[in-house]
Amino acid sequence: MVDELKTLENLAAKDVAIVASWGPMAHAVTRHPCGAVISAGRTGGASRDAFRVNRRASEILRESSVAAAYPGWGDYRPDRFAAALALHYLREVAPRLLVVGLGDTDEYGHRGNYEKYVESLQRFDAFLGDLFRSLEHMRNRGGRTASVFVLTDHGRDAGFAHHGSGDPSSSRVWVLAHGPRIVGPARRAGRANPMSLGDLAPTLRTAFGLTTHGEGEGEGEGEAKKRERMRDQADRERWLKMEKPRG
Ligand SMILES: [Zn+2]
Repeated sequence: MVDELKTLENLAAKDVAIVASWGPMAHAVTRHPCGAVISAGRTGGASRDAFRVNRRASEILRESSVAAAYPGWGDYRPDRFAAALALHYLREVAPRLLVVGLGDTDEYGHRGNYEKYVESLQRFDAFLGDLFRSLEHMRNRGGRTASVFVLTDHGRDAGFAHHGSGDPSSSRVWVLAHGPRIVGPARRAGRANPMSLGDLAPTLRTAFGLTTHGEGEGEGEGEAKKRERMRDQADRERWLKMEKPRG
């Protein structure tokens, strides 16, 4: 969908910014990583240097590359870095399309840490406030015409720590979509019942006035669900591994 919006609006790579805490997210967002500037995970994104838009942004990239992945693992970059980097890029470059993927809630959820999970949600909220203040402040410099998506993973199952068990609550998903193409609350456009992650792309496609083929229907929906299932499986395996008592 990002690729289609890019073609539709004839955007340059620097006008399409993707910032994510979780590295593999970048692959889910675009099929053409060269057509966007991407910083995903602590060291991921071939174009991450494009985010060195001012001194503080360069420091954030450096600090995050050596910071602990906690609450995540591997190349995970804690949300505080991704959120700050996205805001610097937005204010300095005024991209036409910005996608931010946060993940601390998912990571604290897997750790079974409800208190930190709630704290992460509060930080998400603070970030959204900063984001909207920035868009308002730069309203005559692309703030009004920018398309912005914020994605924050999805719900938990009844046991809280994991998801993907088939429990409907783990399929619930939240997304923020802002921009001139968003003409009202997005109508649900998926086909699954209850609504799940597989409905996200078709719903956003409807909100942006794109045709609803591909990800949302037929084979596309099946593929989205398959990816979701594989990710859930990978999540669970890695957490089971980590939670094994050591020594
Ligand atoms: Zn997860």
